This record gives sequence, C-alpha cells and structure tokens, in this order.
Amino acid sequence: MDIAVIGSNNVDLITYIDRMPTEGETLEAPSFQLGCGGKGSNQAVAAARLGSRVLMVTCVGDDIFADMTVENYRNNGIDTDHVKRAHGTSGVAPIFVDPHSRNSILIVKGANNDLTPEDVEACREQIAQCALIVCQLEIRLDTVYVAIALGEQVGVPVLLNPAPASPDFNFDWARRCTYLMPNESELTLLTGMPCDSDEGVEAAARTLVEHGCRHVIVTLGSRGAWWFTRANEGGLHVVSQRIDALRVDPVDTTGAGDAFIGAFAHRIVHGDAIPEALEYANSYAAMSVLKRGTQYSYATADEFDRWRA
Ligand code: ADP
Repeated sequence: MDIAVIGSNNVDLITYIDRMPTEGETLEAPSFQLGCGGKGSNQAVAAARLGSRVLMVTCVGDDIFADMTVENYRNNGIDTDHVKRAHGTSGVAPIFVDPHSRNSILIVKGANNDLTPEDVEACREQIAQCALIVCQLEIRLDTVYVAIALGEQVGVPVLLNPAPASPDFNFDWARRCTYLMPNESELTLLTGMPCDSDEGVEAAARTLVEHGCRHVIVTLGSRGAWWFTRANEGGLHVVSQRIDALRVDPVDTTGAGDAFIGAFAHRIVHGDAIPEALEYANSYAAMSVLKRGTQYSYATADEFDRWRA
C-alpha cells in the first residue's frame, strides 16, 4: 500500500438551490445529487483515481449509506479490509449549493464517532507498510492523535489536514506531523491570527513553522496555495513558496481542498519533491472545480493528463 487514510466517510446529500428557505418556508430546489464524500474518503478517492494504492481506515454504520460507501471504495480500488461496521447511522452530509457555487454544509458524524484508537492500533502492521498516513479532523480527536503517534513510532510521515477547524484540537500534535495542510479558516483557528489577507496568512503560517511545524501548506481557494518551511541553514529562518491557482471558471468548489490533498499525497508517495507535488495538486484541484459534486469531479490519471496536455 502507498497511503493509509485514517478518516471519515459520509454520504453527501447535495441539493442545488436558488436560495436558502427562510424559517417555516418550503421551497422547490432545482436539482439533487447523492454522492459519496467525507474528507477522508474524498482524499482517498482522489489519490486512488490517480493511481495510488490506498488503505482506508474508517467506520460506517449499518444502513444503506454504509453499503454505498463500501461499494464506492471497491469501485475505486481502495482496500476495505479495515472499514469497520458499527450499529447506527453512517455519516451523512446535507450540502446546499447556490447558483454562485457557494456551499453550506451540515455534517452528521454518525458512525465516524465509532472509529476508536484501538481500531487504528489493530492495523498497525498494515499502516507501517505505507509510505504516508493521511488524517483529517472529522473523526474522534483521540483516534487522530493515535494515528499521528503511530506514524512516529513506525517511521511513516503523517499529512494532517486540520479540517474542519476544531477548537479542541491540541496543537502539539500538529507539530508532530510532516505536512500540515490547512485552508485559511483552519489556519486562523490554529493560530488565533486573522488570515483574511496575504500578510495575515504569511504571519500565521510563519508562526506555525517557528513553533515547530515542518511543512505548512495553506490552500487559498482561487488564490492558489502557499508552502512554508524552515530553511536548511541553521537558525530559525522560514522560507516560503507561493503557487498561483489556475485561471478557470469554477462550477462547484466543493471538495477542491480534498482533491488537492489527495493529489499531493499521491505525488509525494511517488517520489515528487514538494514543489512538483504542489504544482500537480494545484492543477488537479482546479480541474475538480469545473464539475459539480465532490468525488464526481475527481478525474482519473488519464483524464487529468488529457486535460493538462
Ligand atoms: P477548501 O475546500 O479546503 O477550502 P480551497 O478552497 O483552499 O480548499 O481549495 C483548494 C485548492 O483548490 C486551492 O489551493 C486551488 O489549488 C484549488 N482551487 C479552489 N478554488 C479554485 C478556483 N476557483 N480556481 C482555481 N483553483 C481553485
């Protein structure tokens, strides 16, 4: 296996709306799409479609959404040996997308809360064979912490996407990851610093590196991404590299961050240096915003190569 994704699964219930109903109002919405999602699953699917061999460590419930999720992993060639089944509902995410492709998302975590530290420990050997562990914050935090500790113990680098932003997340664990990949709002919550300008993002990301984070990669939506790390020469010298987003006309940006992370992880385990992996991830995520839906918008390696050519 190349990548172990230890994270969430959801079934996305995506309603395309003209506007949000007000209290007590019933509105007709133009269209609806059911899709497999969850940050963990999205990142796993993006990496798998690009050709990585992905091990998924997650927990589904005992409903129809569980079957959909497992079938989706199989269809994408993702290893399901460590997909746990718990009693109760699976994770679901009602998502509302307006005509300007702005989205509002509710998350019902369901069985995602049943993925325990012991479940991660139970697949220690398989995880140790992987070249990268990828985690997010849509599952129990104690499970995320065990995943990061396990990575350290077995010498597998950990990529943490600290999403969704969680005030309960203990920053000490971010320092222990090789790659920390927040968007602007997650960066704000991690640092307590405003990140609504380039100056703010830079100051906050630098602070993270100064506090021990190795590689901080901030995704900035239509403004691209920004990588911060410590310079090789001694002392505390932070260096950064900015990458502009591709100029495209976005249709639906849901899941762009997950596309970016899955593609970045895929290239890193296949030997790219960080700048090359970022370039690739930036293009892959740009392609994903051209189609509606989350995983529906993730291209295979062939489709992506044709689009880039
Ligand atoms: P998240 O969904 O986690 O908030 P972002 O919105 O930061 O993630 O988007 C992740 C990446 O997707 C960006 O870094 C960029 O590469 C790409 N992206 C997002 N929106 C656009 C856009 N409008 N045009 C081009 N690329 C985009």
